[in-house]
Amino acid sequence: MLFLLIKGTRTVPIGVEEQFMFCSNCRSHSVHDIMVSSRYFHVYNIPVMPLDKHATVFCHTCGSQRGFEMDKDIKSRFKHPWNTYLLAAIVVIFIALVVLSKLW
Ligand SMILES: [Zn+2]
Repeated sequence: MLFLLIKGTRTVPIGVEEQFMFCSNCRSHSVHDIMVSSRYFHVYNIPVMPLDKHATVFCHTCGSQRGFEMDKDIKSRFKHPWNTYLLAAIVVIFIALVVLSKLW
């Protein structure tokens, strides 16, 4: 049971962008906030690597929210936070130090 608590995925918001689009709830064209989130895998609460990005759309007119399928343009504007690569970076640095110590 404890093993289940020490690894998993987390989601953090990474940015918000406004866009004019159609709302299926209030049936009007209005400004929407697109909130993009990064999901990453962690072990012992240390981020290992980012997995994917999700977007949620909020309508300014009626306040409804729904999932949103991002195109590549929007995805490319929002980067995963650098710390979601933390454990992977530590492992790479450790391997590099071991290799360098063998050379000297
Ligand atoms: Zn709406």
